[in-house]
Formats: sequence, C-alpha cells, structure tokens
Amino acid sequence: MKKSNYYFILLLVVLTFPLAAKEQKIDAARLLQHVKILAADSLSGRRTCSRGAELARNYLRGYFYRLQLQPLFESFSQKFTVETERLTCTEGVNLIGLIKGRKTDAGTIVVSAHYDHLGIKNGEIFNGADDNASGVAALLEIANYFSKNKPQHDLVFCAFDAEELNSAGARAFIENLPFNRENLKLNFNIDMISISPKNELFIAGASHYPVLKTRLSSVVQKEQRINIRWGHDTPEPRYQDWTFASDHRVFHRVQIPFIYFGVEDHSFYHQPEDTFEHIDQDFFVDAANFVFEALLQLDNSFSKFLRPPAQR
Ligand SMILES: [Zn+2]
Repeated sequence: MKKSNYYFILLLVVLTFPLAAKEQKIDAARLLQHVKILAADSLSGRRTCSRGAELARNYLRGYFYRLQLQPLFESFSQKFTVETERLTCTEGVNLIGLIKGRKTDAGTIVVSAHYDHLGIKNGEIFNGADDNASGVAALLEIANYFSKNKPQHDLVFCAFDAEELNSAGARAFIENLPFNRENLKLNFNIDMISISPKNELFIAGASHYPVLKTRLSSVVQKEQRINIRWGHDTPEPRYQDWTFASDHRVFHRVQIPFIYFGVEDHSFYHQPEDTFEHIDQDFFVDAANFVFEALLQLDNSFSKFLRPPAQR
C-alpha cells in the first residue's frame, strides 16, 4: 500500500468512527419491511372496521405471537364499538401485548402507535405510510428488542385502532384497562416518524411532565444523526400545540404522564401520497433508533422519579 493511500484510509476510518461506533439496535430492513406491508395498496388505507384494517391486524398479531408477547385479551384483541359523527361500527379492535418487567413494583409503561388510517376516499387509497405505519413498525421492533432483553417496567404494547376517529381505540383501552390503573406510569406514544425535510424529530409532553426532560436529556445530547427538538406542547402561538394531537391525549386527560414522538406535518400528511415510496428511509431508521434509545433510558430510570399522582 502506498503511504498516501494508507493515510487516506486512516482518515476515512477516523471520520466515520463516531457513526460506526454507535450501534443501531433496531434492524433497518425489518423496520422498512413492516411499513411496506402495512402501507401496501392491498390494505386499502386501514380504515377502522374495514377489511384492510383486519388484514393489518393479521400481520401485527402474527408478529406479536412470533415475539411471544403475553396477550392481555384473547388473541391480543380488545374489541370496541366506534360511535362518532363520521363512522359508527362495531369492529374496532386494539391489539395489546405485554412484556413482563424484571421489577415487580416498577409499574407499567404503555407503548402505543395507532395502526388505523383514512381508508379510501373518492376512489383514492390513503396508504398512511408515515401516518402511522412508521410508528407501528418502530413499536414492533422495539417489542422485538425487549422480548429478548427484559425491561425493568412492564411494557404494554398497544397498536391502537381508530386514532383517526377521535382516539376511540385509546379511549376504549383506558376505560377497560387490563391491569391496575395505579400501575400505569407513562404513555409512550409514537405517531409519524419517517418524513422530515428538516431532519427533525419532536418530543412533546415534557412541558407538562418536566421530569421526562431531565431523564431524556443525555439521550438527546448523544444523538448525532437527526435533530431532536423539544416542544409542541405549550399554547405558545408560534408552534402548534400537539398535547391533544394523537392518542396520548386520552392519557393526558386522566393525568397519566405522556411523552410523544413525531414529525411536523409535511406535504404528504393526510394525502394519498403518504406512501412507502415517499418516506425518508435514512431519517426513519435513525428516528426509530432514537425512539428506542429514549424508551430504554426511561425504562431504566423513570419510576423512581415519580410520585403517585395524588401527592403531586
Ligand atoms: Zn397519526
């Protein structure tokens, strides 16, 4: 090897080392595969109570079984009736699976992502790749990790139905919790994490529950690939307040702390163009890995900083 080549290679190694050193725990290929399947035309936009939603559930349920999550309802399925102005139907179904924690008194973290979307309108399929096949894919791979590496808390993985119908699925869950309400410490909600022209992922909720910011600050500081921003959780007029923007609103309304991960609205948001082809694969994989690191950190540090709600 010529000496100049040697120095060139050495320089490359030095330059790429910081990225190479950080191991990505979430498998990129599997993550993308989940989105591709959930956002396929054959699932017709996964509208609540539709055949497409049922097909989505078959896929998710198969993965829950493969990971050997504990079903908290028969076949993981919590059924409920949807009664909204836009739709009334009886086949709303949340999929709920548990991974038992190592500490019996740590309590429960509910990890959620909604799998429903808008279905077909005027003959056009709204595939919902970013909203929210992306969040569900992250949930599946996070569950995959914790199925092999036991968490401290009980982790309850909720693929919620009917978020697009005023969170009817999350409301059915909170009204019929499959465990003790006092054990529920946190909702960790993921909704839209795969498209951001500014390479930005937001964390919302910490202004309501400042302890979360403290606990996550080290993970945020370590993140080098994407820009992590706190916010969208105050009535400040410059930014949209997302406190009631997704399923975490149901938890917040009953004073259960939440933390939410998502991107700002983009040109494909709630459009037929929200397809697998339009997601930013690099950003998505990085965002999913960051969300995973955040949950890992909270699982290791969260409960001991919390007092029961009555004493706050
Ligand atoms: Zn959504």
